Amino acid sequence: MHKPARPANEATRLDELHRYEILDTLSEVAYDDLLAVAAGICGTPMGAVSLVDAEREWYKAALGVPTREGPRDESFCAHAILHADRLMVVADAQEDPRFRDNPRVLGAPGIRFYAGAPLVSPSGHVTGTLCVMDRQPRVLDTFQQESLIRLSRQVVTLMELRRVNRRLRQHLEEREWYEQQMQDYQQLLELHNEELSTQLGVDPLTGLASRRAFTAALEKALSHAAIEQQPVSLALVDIDHFKAINDVHGHPVGDQVLGEFGQLLRRLVPVGAMPARHGGEEFVLLLPGMDRTRAASAAEAMCRAVREAPLSRPVTVSIGVAGWRTGESTADLYARADAALYAAKREGRDRVMVAG
Ligand code: GH3
Ligand code: MG
Ligand code: MG
Repeated sequence: MHKPARPANEATRLDELHRYEILDTLSEVAYDDLLAVAAGICGTPMGAVSLVDAEREWYKAALGVPTREGPRDESFCAHAILHADRLMVVADAQEDPRFRDNPRVLGAPGIRFYAGAPLVSPSGHVTGTLCVMDRQPRVLDTFQQESLIRLSRQVVTLMELRRVNRRLRQHLEEREWYEQQMQDYQQLLELHNEELSTQLGVDPLTGLASRRAFTAALEKALSHAAIEQQPVSLALVDIDHFKAINDVHGHPVGDQVLGEFGQLLRRLVPVGAMPARHGGEEFVLLLPGMDRTRAASAAEAMCRAVREAPLSRPVTVSIGVAGWRTGESTADLYARADAALYAAKREGRDRVMVAG
């Protein structure tokens, strides 16, 4: 028995074979089909899609042979891969010095005839063969030989497709992974932003002062007003039917409108006034130096301006105004402004009401 020589490019050939990641995978109908057609055309009972690994040959598809794997030194295909450009035909193994004492000739499966077409990768490496075998000597006519070669090219195309497919899937998975990372990172940033905003007394959605920061400012303004005997007023601003925006357009659009509204309010408030987000779709204004009459007309102007403002969804507001009474607590001041706001809602919204 002649042991098969190693091809000159054996190292890169093995690299190429391993890049296909085909060894030791499950059988696939597509390969079985090509082999069945090859054996059918050649009229042989046995055949294989054989891949020649470093020390073994392994069958991706096998027909009529008992094992899927064998030593490379006993392999017919290991001889066939030595020539990329031709079919190797052994008409009668018992007459061929390379194979006559081969265990596969002497014993099972009793090979007499062999024809193997090399599987040539696009880079010119031979990874294995598409081969057919018989237990009796035979010859292949030209049509059968050409068919075997054509089918071997189909096997390579199939291997290439599988390889490209796998690479695409990997890219896709990587992309999904990156997108997930970006999303996590974004969430982390938002969380940090929120924490930072809270520490700074800023409402993250609208950029206005938070309720806590506002309450502190209000306390200060009231004691200042008491000392200076200056008027100060409070206005509660509530967006009308805001729930409908969420219901019709979704919560993200609602958020967007709230953000825009916050910016609008900052532009509209009189000089020296402090706007803040009271909570939800309610805002509050501290109007230092203004009695309830002046505060009411400032509120009227704002109410009109909101009605005409080009927000991504149009809104109107109801406003309750209360002028501070000397000695009055912040809670009582709030309560009167709130009652006025409630009255504005009750009267039909999009209006200003002043607490008595
Ligand atoms: P009214 O004219 O009586 O004030 O009606 P309304 O729908 O504005 O008032 P209601 O109190 O029934 O609903 C307020 C809505 O505001 C419900 C809530 O989902 C929404 N909202 C509160 N805070 C936010 C927020 O931060 N983002 C969004 N998108 N919606 C909010
Ligand atoms: Mg509302
Ligand atoms: Mg409300």
